[in-house]
Amino acid sequence: MPRRDHTQPRLMSLHSVVIAGAGQAGFQTAASLRQDGYDGRITLVGDEPGLPYQRPPLSKAYLMGKTSAEALCFRPEKFFADNKIEVVAPTRVTAIDRTNRRVALASGGALEYDHLVLALGAHNRTLPIPGADFEGVFGLRTLADADAIGAMLADAQEVVVAGAGFIGLEFAAVASVLGKSVHVLELADRPMARAVSPAMSDLFADAHSSWGVKIDFGQGLAGILGEAGRVASVETTDGRKRPADIVVFGIGVLPNVAIAAEAGLDIDNGIKVDADLLTSDPAISAIGDCASFPSPHAASHIRLESVQNAADQSRAVAARLMGKVAPYAAVPWFWSDQRDLKLQIAGLSSGCDHTVIIGNADERRMSVLCFRRDKLIAVESVNRGSDHVAARKIFGRGMPALAAAEASKPGFDLKAWEAATR
Ligand SMILES: Cc1cc2nc3c(=O)[nH]c(=O)nc-3n(C[C@H](O)[C@H](O)[C@H](O)COP(=O)(O)OP(=O)(O)OC[C@H]3O[C@@H](n4cnc5c(N)ncnc54)[C@H](O)[C@@H]3O)c2cc1C
Repeated sequence: MPRRDHTQPRLMSLHSVVIAGAGQAGFQTAASLRQDGYDGRITLVGDEPGLPYQRPPLSKAYLMGKTSAEALCFRPEKFFADNKIEVVAPTRVTAIDRTNRRVALASGGALEYDHLVLALGAHNRTLPIPGADFEGVFGLRTLADADAIGAMLADAQEVVVAGAGFIGLEFAAVASVLGKSVHVLELADRPMARAVSPAMSDLFADAHSSWGVKIDFGQGLAGILGEAGRVASVETTDGRKRPADIVVFGIGVLPNVAIAAEAGLDIDNGIKVDADLLTSDPAISAIGDCASFPSPHAASHIRLESVQNAADQSRAVAARLMGKVAPYAAVPWFWSDQRDLKLQIAGLSSGCDHTVIIGNADERRMSVLCFRRDKLIAVESVNRGSDHVAARKIFGRGMPALAAAEASKPGFDLKAWEAATR
């Protein structure tokens, strides 16, 4: 999509910004608009009850009982009142009337906008297998999900997790700390296969094994068997049965695109936006988990599911609406906490054809430097925060001139290399 001139609409009039979706990206857009000096009307429409909250602790500290629901909220009620951010919740945006620049609400009525920001997030994928609707079968996306899981987990002993991705493994790690018998079923031959290198997968597979978490690779969930409407056991794709008091799905998410598609916006693995995060309608932006965007760090449009992406895109949209136009180019980064392992990833590793490992897997302090055609494209670190920080600085500067041969030299130090080449 060619870039458009965005200064004109702002100069004309921007009296009302409506944000559909009150999660990470929706909240941050509202907060950044105020921070950047926008003094028009901001309406944040969310379909979950309560104030906007952060999701990462749901599969970590919150499930462990180490933090409260209140502490998950980005800001207390006073912040929204003080900043004149109208939170309309819980209700859904059901339709977008692009001609009249109006959104319809499930609760009735409509909101007019000069600019609409779609921050709709994503929903859990489920499996169309028998028993998926039994009591005790969960996805983990919302505070309500985490509360329901927490309530049942207390008395559960046999825990089955479908999918060894980030959410599945974070949940498995928590359940293992709580003393449960944990079985993870994963169709691939290694954990987090879509996101990390084989060396990093191996480290996490070993760690989970040492915590007593059993991961069955090459195995999926074929069916869920129940008694009196409640899960009792599962059947795996190789025909085996195992007991289950609770089953948690962690098999990925799908972007929430329905209202955008119905309104005729371009969709391509998410709501398609240009480098300025504008949809095919220049009065509508899309950001966060629901948006597919062009990135200088990737060959084609990508969709990322991370706090960094949601927050940075929100700031970029707020800045653009206030006249500071710049193509979105933030360095992607991500983290996952699993017991004493802090995984941090900077950059995007797709297309990686060579890796260099620094640190020590046995000590669980390791970084994997991912190269494509001898160009550094991503750094995966576990318990090596300084490598992660250095990597973000390196990618933030543009094309890293670090060759694999140099990184392979004994004693190579990424932080020192970053400082020396600054
Ligand atoms: C359990 C869990 C753990 C995670 N851990 C990490 C982590 O460790 N690190 C990391 O970087 N990322 C993590 N993430 C991902 C991160 O939380 C998401 O990438 C981020 O929340 C995306 O923000 P968002 O605003 O795009 O979507 P969301 O935060 O999902 O917000 C979208 C909101 O819009 C609402 N909505 C949808 N449709 C409508 C509608 N029509 N009308 C009104 N409202 C609507 C949704 O219900 C939701 O409340 C985790 C996610 C989960 C679920």
